[in-house]
Amino acid sequence: MLDQNFIEKMQTRLIEEKERVEAEIKKLKTPEEPMDNPDIEDLSNDATEDLLEEQLLAVHKNILAKIDDALLRIKDGTYGRCLICGAEISEEDLEKEPWAEHCRSCKQ
Ligand SMILES: [Zn+2]
Repeated sequence: MLDQNFIEKMQTRLIEEKERVEAEIKKLKTPEEPMDNPDIEDLSNDATEDLLEEQLLAVHKNILAKIDDALLRIKDGTYGRCLICGAEISEEDLEKEPWAEHCRSCKQ
């Protein structure tokens, strides 16, 4: 069983991480100032940037969903268990990734 103190520590980290990711998403969603007289190069740089931002946004949203799931698992008492086999995920792995969903053997 995971230590209650450890779970509380992870909960704090998850909440902090969630705020950080939400701030990132907000920043990515803020529209840029329109340029005055953009030339072709500006426009194509802009298109590349948009694509990168979209990918980044998708990554952030994915993490946010995992954080929310982990917070729910803390609530219902299943936090720190592998979603596939039910084994306990080590504290070491949870320290690295508080929203970890799988034990080491299922991850492979
Ligand atoms: Zn497993």
